[in-house]
Amino acid sequence: MPYTPQHRPSEWLPLLEKSLRPGRVVAADAEVDRLSKDFYWYSPVLERQLREKRGDAAVQARDVDDVRAVLRFAARHGVPVTVRGAGTGNYGQCIPLRGGILLDVGALDRVLAVTADGTAVCEPGARLGTVEATARKEGWELRCYPSTYQKASVGGFLAGGSGGIGSITHGVLRDNGTVRRIRLLTLEEEPREVVLEGPDVLRALHAWGTTGVMVEATIALAPKVDWAQVAVSFPRFDACLDFAERVANDDGWRKRLVTAFEWPIPAWFTPLVKWVPQGEALAFLEVAQEQLDALGAATVEAGGTVAFRAPFQEPRRGAQLSDYTWNHTTLWAKKADPSITYLQSGFTPSRVREQIRSLKERFGDEILMHMEFLRSDGVVVPGALPIVRFTTEARLQEMIDHSLSIGVGIANPHINHLEGSGRWRPDDAKLVAKAEYDPRGLLNPGKMLGYQPRPEHANAA
Ligand SMILES: Cc1cc2nc3c(=O)[nH]c(=O)nc-3n(C[C@H](O)[C@H](O)[C@H](O)COP(=O)(O)OP(=O)(O)OC[C@H]3O[C@@H](n4cnc5c(N)ncnc54)[C@H](O)[C@@H]3O)c2cc1C
Repeated sequence: MPYTPQHRPSEWLPLLEKSLRPGRVVAADAEVDRLSKDFYWYSPVLERQLREKRGDAAVQARDVDDVRAVLRFAARHGVPVTVRGAGTGNYGQCIPLRGGILLDVGALDRVLAVTADGTAVCEPGARLGTVEATARKEGWELRCYPSTYQKASVGGFLAGGSGGIGSITHGVLRDNGTVRRIRLLTLEEEPREVVLEGPDVLRALHAWGTTGVMVEATIALAPKVDWAQVAVSFPRFDACLDFAERVANDDGWRKRLVTAFEWPIPAWFTPLVKWVPQGEALAFLEVAQEQLDALGAATVEAGGTVAFRAPFQEPRRGAQLSDYTWNHTTLWAKKADPSITYLQSGFTPSRVREQIRSLKERFGDEILMHMEFLRSDGVVVPGALPIVRFTTEARLQEMIDHSLSIGVGIANPHINHLEGSGRWRPDDAKLVAKAEYDPRGLLNPGKMLGYQPRPEHANAA
């Protein structure tokens, strides 16, 4: 629905400045533009759809009172609010579709506690890299984190991400009680504080900030491990995949990362070219330090070569293989060829080879295999972020349709609403949460299509 007069920035902006403490509102165009954007340009489809979208103003909150004041103001004046952590989301989750206030919570960045029973209590803007470093000092580590962990925030990961490094052992965010507790504020004339625990955390997980603003999160940690890094190469991708799959499925290996790349993807890892073997498939692994030699021996036995190994170091120094995995792989590929894009695919464990063959027969080198093994609902899954040489949107859709027709799940990264993104369930707790915590539909409007505010509230969504 288009703006109604009460949404005109020229009317509400001066009021916003008066109702907040000095220095909180950012109205300078360049800064509002910067804060309104994330890595949406990973997708040529979203790049076209979202490039002109921006907030009308940004607020840089310094504490929870600032967040509460923004939400109160927005409810009273009917102004949309889109929350931003670090802005590393890659499908435009924090790009405001209907203008309004861009609420930057990046400065609420403290790790409040690492508890003796292995949880971290964090403000929403706490960087995952900081949480990891703080936890390790106390003998713990993150269960899973995105490859953007140095920049990405806890709130942004919970609301916008899914899993990453560590997910091969500990599952994704929604698994195993990893997210213990979320404190969020509602968007109402008097914002309420709601505490979500147990399965109720699903009301806010992967909700793209549409069901409330997280102001604190408690996440479960794992006992820390001394991780070593290994890159192994194989002349052919199928042998590399076999090896990676065996490591992924064997609980005897203590591991944090199992990634496999088809050639020429490794050729795009420019800083690593001095040791990347030309023309070969490559697997990147993180295993416990004490298993480093055994993994080398297993590689040779499988017909592979250890191309790189780095024993455990704290703090980590030098090449970090994880900086080339998960969605960083796409970034390196895009640096080499900006037209490249990607998919997010879930292969069937028992059919992965046949499914890959089918995709390669139909699309050849237009699609290149980048596998990320992970555990989801307790099952080891050959996940993938395949690299796609983009030509047209119709051709991209053909790849998606073909994937679906052969049983490959797609979490579509070229769609900018929750329902299309692949993790939506029709009876979703998020719809209920939306009605309770954001009845006017002012939080990140346009991202949850299924929610219709009651007529008395229908001024934005
Ligand atoms: C190179 C690259 C690699 C990546 N790798 C991974 C990966 O391995 N795994 C993965 O899951 N993702 C990955 N991502 C996506 C993204 O980096 C992560 O999900 C990251 O955790 C997002 O955090 P952020 O602070 O940048 O969130 P933002 O981009 O700022 O926000 C993400 C979403 O969360 C909402 N949000 C932010 N803060 C709050 C809050 N306090 N309350 C409510 N809603 C909030 C925003 O409105 C938005 O909808 C990758 C992206 C890139 C560009």
